[in-house]
Amino acid sequence: MGLSKRFGGVQALRDVSFAMDRGQVVGLIGPNGSGKSTCVNLLSGTLPVSAGEVWLDDELLTGKPIDAAVVKGLSRTFQSTQIFPEDTALENVMLGCHTLFKQGPAKSVLRTASAKRENLELVTHAERSLALVGLAERRDQIASTLSAAEQRLLMIAVALASKPKVILLDEPAAGMVASERRALAGIIRSLPSHGISVLVIEHHMGLIMEVCDRIVVLNFGQKIAEGTPAEIRNNQAVIDAYLGH
Ligand code: ADP
Ligand code: MG
Repeated sequence: MGLSKRFGGVQALRDVSFAMDRGQVVGLIGPNGSGKSTCVNLLSGTLPVSAGEVWLDDELLTGKPIDAAVVKGLSRTFQSTQIFPEDTALENVMLGCHTLFKQGPAKSVLRTASAKRENLELVTHAERSLALVGLAERRDQIASTLSAAEQRLLMIAVALASKPKVILLDEPAAGMVASERRALAGIIRSLPSHGISVLVIEHHMGLIMEVCDRIVVLNFGQKIAEGTPAEIRNNQAVIDAYLGH
């Protein structure tokens, strides 16, 4: 049985199932309200499922505490930008490292880390995450002073800080101009070479077709197609529901 989610009378997701192979970039597309964010919320454990299971390798993630997915190697970004605006880029990423270093709640890690600058491992790992998204030189900049696109990339760096096997990106290109989207495409494509599989929700079909190995299409909470970019581009049901608009 696939994943289902009901919000009161709204069936946001109905029996959706798909697999991701290691090292793949998979796209999740569909019209507004088709259930894409809900799907990511269920995969990441942000919301409890109404029915269905989420597996990461041989570990069942559903029904576990809220941070179980991150601990097991699945992390995510959000559709809206969520960062600590008054902290530096590096500090934001160090907060994301907390599952990696298992020192308790995020804010206390930051205090520990700023108090003990000798925690080189934490800093080095956070710097590596910033470098993966091209923000190495923004390390000490206050997050609110980064451009909107850089703040989106910072969210990815934060998600990468927990050393995920799988990262879920909910509309990472939101608010980006074409050149920023091209840079983002390069970043997404580079992640599999670091052992990270990617599930990406996007409305920009150019970006999706460029970065994805496979694409899953939702419409009204159900999976209507799955295939390679070429297959999806030529799928009549997908054209009717989404691409033709
Ligand atoms: P998408 O990301 O594809 O635009 P969503 O997953 O956000 O779609 O939404 C799917 C459907 O579920 C929509 O009808 C939306 O209104 C509804 N929905 C999503 N989240 C909630 C929620 N927290 N409470 C009630 N309804 C929700
Ligand atoms: Mg959404």
